Amino acid sequence: MSINKKINYLFNEVSSIKGVGKKISSYLKNKKIEKINDLLWNAPYSYTDRSNMVTLNKLEIGKILTIKIKVIKYNFPRIRNLPNKVSCEDSYGKIDIIFFNSREGYIRKVMPLNSWVVISGKINYYKNKYQITNPDYITATTNIDYVKKNIPKYSLTEGLNEKSYRKIIDEVLKNLPDIKEWYSDEFLKDMKFTDWKSSIIKIHTSKNDKDLNSNSYRRLAYDEIFSNLLVISENRKRLRKKKKKSKIFNKKASSAILKSLEFRLTSDQINTINEIENDLKSKNKMFRILQGDVGSGKTIVSLISIANTCEAGYQCALMAPTEILASQHYFLAKKIFKNLNIKIELLTSKMDNKRRKEIINLIENKKIDFLIGTHSLFQEKVKFKKLGLIIIDEQHKFGVRQRMKLAEKGGINCDVLLMSATPIPRTMILTIYGDMDVSKIKEKPNNRKKILTLSKPETKINELWPLIKKNIDNKDQIFWVCPLIEESKKLNYSSALKRFDLLKKKFPGKVGLIHGGLEKDEKDQVLKKFLKNEISILVSTTVIEVGIDFPNANLIIIENSNKFGLAQLHQLRGRVGRGTKQGMCILLYKGTLSQNGIKRIKILKSTNDGFVIAEEDMKLRGHGDIMGFKQSGIKFYKIADPVLHADLFNIAEKKIVEIQKLKSLNKYNFLLKLFDRAEIIDKELLN
Ligand code: ADP
Ligand code: MG
Repeated sequence: MSINKKINYLFNEVSSIKGVGKKISSYLKNKKIEKINDLLWNAPYSYTDRSNMVTLNKLEIGKILTIKIKVIKYNFPRIRNLPNKVSCEDSYGKIDIIFFNSREGYIRKVMPLNSWVVISGKINYYKNKYQITNPDYITATTNIDYVKKNIPKYSLTEGLNEKSYRKIIDEVLKNLPDIKEWYSDEFLKDMKFTDWKSSIIKIHTSKNDKDLNSNSYRRLAYDEIFSNLLVISENRKRLRKKKKKSKIFNKKASSAILKSLEFRLTSDQINTINEIENDLKSKNKMFRILQGDVGSGKTIVSLISIANTCEAGYQCALMAPTEILASQHYFLAKKIFKNLNIKIELLTSKMDNKRRKEIINLIENKKIDFLIGTHSLFQEKVKFKKLGLIIIDEQHKFGVRQRMKLAEKGGINCDVLLMSATPIPRTMILTIYGDMDVSKIKEKPNNRKKILTLSKPETKINELWPLIKKNIDNKDQIFWVCPLIEESKKLNYSSALKRFDLLKKKFPGKVGLIHGGLEKDEKDQVLKKFLKNEISILVSTTVIEVGIDFPNANLIIIENSNKFGLAQLHQLRGRVGRGTKQGMCILLYKGTLSQNGIKRIKILKSTNDGFVIAEEDMKLRGHGDIMGFKQSGIKFYKIADPVLHADLFNIAEKKIVEIQKLKSLNKYNFLLKLFDRAEIIDKELLN
């Protein structure tokens, strides 16, 4: 093969590997392995020692062993669900080999009667007899050498067995290209990194369990981190080159708003407002993310920025993920802007067509200064005459690609501000928002009391009734979040329904229910009733969106709380205690708590700081589960681990600053292609 051909080999479909047909391709696809290079990152997690061949008097239950046995008798029951059985022996004892889902013909072929075979698999004990069920290997005694090899174990997908997967990997490893090194010798030496090709081979053929701290693994993890941060830094450069007209305003409107507020801004809010102000005035397009925990007061920051932008003669758009949230923003904006000459409208998909058309028309003629809505804001039909600022609230519900598109749609003079209540750890901020400027609101308004967090076994649920009654008598409201059952939407629904029935009996006329099975309208109806305090208890699965302000909700009860991530629990409890009263969160759990469970509850009780919780959450659960990102289906790292390899992030960050003087980044082409970075941030959209 030519060099180029060899390099391109890695980017071909897996079906081009020798021995991989349609069937295996589709199994691999289930594991998101489509191109050959995807196989490289599925490193074996442990290593199976099949080298010790034992006689049948030396069997150990639970171990994977290799034995040499004689086939004595078949038993093919021919009844559905009953397995086929082959009785075998050696001079020391007996064992049964059990087959589920294997046909008689196959069994007769691989285990001919009266012949000796070598079999490898996990030893079980069932009804006084040793067994191996669905053995990993069966081979004629002439092939002993192959079975005796040390076999790395992969986490495999249904339908693929270790042996065929192994063959595929071996084939790929055989065809790995010799790539010119992209790091300097000095750097490799300092880091104790091995070259790329040997690193790949090493992690797939290592005789030890998967070690994320081995030099070869760290090299590959660094590759991934570096390429990721590099793409982000390039995008950042591109964005910084975008020029716009600076916005000119004298802050008369925003000062008037500040004066009319019942509270004083926190210093983080003031800083953030200043940062945005400078961006608006600058000739560079703003591309900023405002991070602030639930209840930290992001909305007022956005409204002040909108007032400034309107004053500069531009239109503004505020996009929320749901209709309810959009309308809550709308009513707040009406109130806050009431003495100002700013025309505000709400655009939702539920509006009748006539009104919609009217609004669209007014927008086009700049008769509306500030438009609030959901996704519907950015349909083709909506054309702003002079859009100057787009704000996207709770943006984690929108994909990265989507938000880039929005930024484009705004036109050259439009600044972009994202607001997120998902506090994420630093390494992930670099990864996800590295191309943006970041503002943070860390401190909460100081009238906000810490939410009292308690835990209780579910068996003591009866102890809650007096507390709930007291809350209802005080006109305080209660969220009741039902167990999260990931496996099944149906089960989720029935468990919420069951709880709803029980609570209805205890507190007649006071309970409402929302769950994923309801239509949007029905859901909104219930939410509105709750907002108006017509019902006291809202039973729900986790479908209530964050961000809605329920000033009277002071108690939240979360069932089966172990099933939720820490950050998610923190978000949930952030829905209560937004008024002046003490908020309370009760975590119910089933059975006894694990070590991990105790630790989680301790963290939640000890801090109210979303950023700290996010760090801890990532340590406990791994980065793939960080709230909001799992649902979006984006997995940011294939092999790097943002917790374990945090040091590599720092090094990569520094290196990327150093290479800014390079004229060309060509030498990293292979690396960037390898990690398919274009998938995360689509360069085309930014051109
Ligand atoms: P989030 O950051 O979650 O969007 P909000 O903007 O909805 O938070 O603010 C939550 C509540 O806190 C609102 O009722 C808001 O009026 C109030 N609030 C915002 N800033 C302050 C402040 N500096 N002092 C007191 N209350 C504040
Ligand atoms: Mg909000």
